[in-house]
Amino acid sequence: MICIPIIANNLDDVLRDMEDASKFADIVELRLDYIKNPDLKRILERRVKPVIVTNRPVREGGKFGGSEEERIALLKLAIQLQADFVDVEHDSIQNMRGDTERRVPASKTKLIVSYHNFRETPDDLTVTYQKLSRYGADIIKIVTYANTITDNIKIYRLLQQAQTPLISFCMGDYGIISRILYKRFGSYLTFASLQKGKESAPGQISIHELLHVYQAQIQNKQTAIYGLIGNPVSHSISPVIHNTLFKEMNLNNIYVPFKVDKIDDFIRAFRELDVKGYSVTIPHKESAINHLDAVDPMAKKIGAVNTIVNKDGKLVGYNTDCKAAIQALGDTDHASGMGEKHEHLKGKHVTLLGAGGAARAIAFGLQECGAQVSLVNRNYERAQSLARDVGCLSIKPDDLPSMQTDILINATPVGMFPAVNETPIDKDQLKPNMVVFDTIYNPIETRLLREAKSRGCTIIGGLPMFVNQAAAQFELWTGIKPPLKLIREIAYKKLVGE
Ligand code: NAP
Repeated sequence: MICIPIIANNLDDVLRDMEDASKFADIVELRLDYIKNPDLKRILERRVKPVIVTNRPVREGGKFGGSEEERIALLKLAIQLQADFVDVEHDSIQNMRGDTERRVPASKTKLIVSYHNFRETPDDLTVTYQKLSRYGADIIKIVTYANTITDNIKIYRLLQQAQTPLISFCMGDYGIISRILYKRFGSYLTFASLQKGKESAPGQISIHELLHVYQAQIQNKQTAIYGLIGNPVSHSISPVIHNTLFKEMNLNNIYVPFKVDKIDDFIRAFRELDVKGYSVTIPHKESAINHLDAVDPMAKKIGAVNTIVNKDGKLVGYNTDCKAAIQALGDTDHASGMGEKHEHLKGKHVTLLGAGGAARAIAFGLQECGAQVSLVNRNYERAQSLARDVGCLSIKPDDLPSMQTDILINATPVGMFPAVNETPIDKDQLKPNMVVFDTIYNPIETRLLREAKSRGCTIIGGLPMFVNQAAAQFELWTGIKPPLKLIREIAYKKLVGE
């Protein structure tokens, strides 16, 4: 079930938000601690969906400013008024005793006993669960703060063991996946904000995102998990693309963002969750390779993976960036991938800006196609090192103007959102007969591409490469070739904000 908290501070706004929330949520949570002099009777009379009445004290992350007696009195009133659920903090439940024992059968209110930890996710959550179980509440709620992505696994384990209905997830950016994967993890419910800016706790995503980006309501215990490993991951458009494709193909799969600091810890811990496939992005494309069970020969040669497939418990790494970039550079009607030689690239003088993960993949791909590649990078030693690996040339940035270039490729983030006014190369160095390929896809048309167009160059944006690599990932995971047109449409819509 999905619960939307109501955090308005006056009666009119509470009633309006409750009505709006009831269109999407299964339950709403009435946060009395946000409301001045709440008219509880009137609010409950107006409910159309079941209501959890909560009155959080400051010590548990709430806003209630009155005395403890006043706070508890409001919760007791909620029981008298037959609220559907009342949430009582574990250290206050003794104060509710008399009423909670009398509530059955006179009141149909279900009691939630809650524990919140805003600092961390302790290792001994089972002890907390057992302690809370002793209060005999209908539902237990254990919510902690994730300081690292692997904290989510502690919540997952707890939920696997629970006998009593349990609401459990991690707060904070690292905990977002436990909120999204609530059904797969086995949580009684998850919380989502009515809209951005109306969050009642850190890491709470909006109902719109939960329903439309993650389609979280259609998951179940069998849903296969896929996701993006990177940092940052919050602005990635991959979740909307892969989740839409899963839905279109009727696959019981879900794709979530994993904000990862330590790739080794993450890969080890998340084997327990049996994640079926990953996309890998900055800064883990190169380091991930050391923690896999097998690596595809091309990815091994490149030294970076952007895709991981779980094959019967064995994690196998691939690099779809390479093929995707070469396809983007070619005539896609004829060039279906690295299997075919892209004759039009043979002997072409390619100047490649950058020596990071993307440049590595592109350089190896071009080399296989017989192009004459020259690498240029801010850190010249890095360019030299990559050039040695690939078997191509490296040049210093100062020598760039004298280079013979048929194809110029930008594989640096210079010009990427939000620094959209930057460009990696002076406009005067762009010649009309050049092909200019910018791997950046946000914005769709970079300053480099605009200037190249104005100089009469043929331009290629980063979107085709992005679409190709996403399609190749999807095919590796599912064995199904997804429609490129659909991926392009979703990506375009997200990027231009339609
Ligand atoms: P990366 O591994 O971090 O490498 C970044 C490269 O850019 C390095 O060579 C770095 O030089 C250089 N660089 C960074 N900031 C610079 C600056 N201010 N001036 C000059 N050079 C700079 O990143 P990556 O994975 O290769 O990604 C690079 C770009 O490729 C991304 O921004 C992304 O837009 C694009 N990309 C696109 C796709 C797609 O599907 N379209 C896929 C992957 C990547 P140093 O070595 O000197 O630090």
